[in-house]
Amino acid sequence: MNAPDRFIVDLKAPCACGAVELTVHGPVLSMLMCACLDCQRSTGSGHADVAIVAAESLGVVGQAKSFARPSESGAQFTRHFCPRCGTPLYGQSSRAPALRMLPIGFFAGQNSWFSPNQLIFARSQQEWDLIADHLPRHQTYREGGQP
Ligand SMILES: [Zn+2]
Ligand SMILES: [Zn+2]
Repeated sequence: MNAPDRFIVDLKAPCACGAVELTVHGPVLSMLMCACLDCQRSTGSGHADVAIVAAESLGVVGQAKSFARPSESGAQFTRHFCPRCGTPLYGQSSRAPALRMLPIGFFAGQNSWFSPNQLIFARSQQEWDLIADHLPRHQTYREGGQP
């Protein structure tokens, strides 16, 4: 995690139907893209764009539902979503229980600050999913990095 990536956000946004609202207040710990197969399925696209914050920075108002499944690392990855409209809310991994992974598109209209610094699970990135050439690629996780 690079120091320039750390800045404080103060965000509040609803899901598509408004049943669940997320608030985020605190430092952004990391910003990345992930092209793992699970992220492809869950986003319906070639990769996920993710901002990582501490669990205590995230507030959830309303009732979310969740689905847990083994991730490619063998850890348990739990995705939370709105049970009414299906909007993805956030994810968490048993590898890093103190962190929350936010799908940056949730904050549509207030996410221009997003600046990913790496692509993880580049091994399953597809050629049609164009990602900036300068972005460092990691075949799976970044060495010694989170999540
Ligand atoms: Zn909803
Ligand atoms: Zn992924």
